[in-house]
Amino acid sequence: MSSTSPKAITRSDPTRIEIEWADGTRTKYSAAQLRRLCPCARCVNELTGERMLDPVTVPDELTQSDLVLVGHYAVSLRFSDGHHTGIYSFPFLRANDPSPAGRAASGS
Ligand SMILES: [Zn+2]
Repeated sequence: MSSTSPKAITRSDPTRIEIEWADGTRTKYSAAQLRRLCPCARCVNELTGERMLDPVTVPDELTQSDLVLVGHYAVSLRFSDGHHTGIYSFPFLRANDPSPAGRAASGS
C-alpha cells in the first residue's frame, strides 16, 4: 500500500472532507477548495492544461452532497453547485493538500 492510498475518508460536515492516508497523515479540504481544484474537462483545458474555472466564482460556503469511490484510485464528488464531473485521484489529492504543512512537505 502506497502513501497515496487513503485509509479513511471522513465527511464530518457538508463543507469539509478529511482524508487519512495509509502513512497516518491527514489532509483536510473544504468542498470549495476541492471544487476549485476540479480536474475535469470543463474546468481544465485538456490540451493546454489551462484552468477554465475562475476560483472567485466558487463560494466558500459550497457544500458536497455525495462522494463516490472510483475504482481504487480516485473519488468523484457532487457539489451543491450541481457540478459532479471531476475525478480526483488520490495522488492528485495528496499533492494538492491545501494546508501550509502539506505544501511544504510536497515541495521537493
Ligand atoms: Zn470540473
